[in-house]
Amino acid sequence: MSTIQSNIQSLRQHIPAHVQLVCVSKFNPNEAILEAYENGERIFGESKVQELCGKQESLPKDISWHFIGHLQTNKIKFLVPFVSLIHGVDSFNLLTEINKQAAKAGRRLNCLLQIHIAREETKFGFSPDELLEMLDAGAWKQLQNVQICGLMGMATYTDNRIQIQTEFRGLKTLFDQVKTAYFDSEPSFCELSMGMSDDYRLAIDEGSTLVRVGSSIFGSRMYTGSL
Ligand SMILES: *Cc1c(COP(=O)(O)O)cnc(C)c1O
Repeated sequence: MSTIQSNIQSLRQHIPAHVQLVCVSKFNPNEAILEAYENGERIFGESKVQELCGKQESLPKDISWHFIGHLQTNKIKFLVPFVSLIHGVDSFNLLTEINKQAAKAGRRLNCLLQIHIAREETKFGFSPDELLEMLDAGAWKQLQNVQICGLMGMATYTDNRIQIQTEFRGLKTLFDQVKTAYFDSEPSFCELSMGMSDDYRLAIDEGSTLVRVGSSIFGSRMYTGSL
């Protein structure tokens, strides 16, 4: 059995049926993705637009591609034709631009709003207050070509499990609050994207519906260029 195959098999033992696995294939070659594909995986996540577009072109068309990186507005148009879910929408401006590009293509694009839950300054996202302010303002309701499907967050990079658990729990509380207050009549607001290789089991315990796992499937990444 190949390493990727056995990694997937052991990972799958810890992922309940109501949680979707996003195989984070960034920096990994098509052959590695195909190996995961042959083991039944269909959802792959990438964080660079150019890399994602190249892979999408040459890999099987029934792959569901998720964009998990920081999206620049001038690159949205490249994703619009095929992307299934954009995880990291971190400003109203970005949401507006996605809406505009999606409208041109006659699509409605699924998005998650990224929330800053970690201690690190470097991670992107709305603060909980900024999120509520944006939702209260209401202009997002006019954006007919985006579907807000839920929230996404990344915990602090730390060995402190309690810290990570507290951050995930806080994000789940915010998700429930936002669902009740703004999306109660919208069943499509149902996704909570949290958990990576080191913390996906904690995230699932705290209510994640989408885990983004890279190195536990494909091995540690070789960083060849800049991040
Ligand atoms: C790279 C990345 C992951 C996967 O990280 P691993 O630790 O390799 O599982 C998940 N989410 C985001 C946003 C990423 O950029």
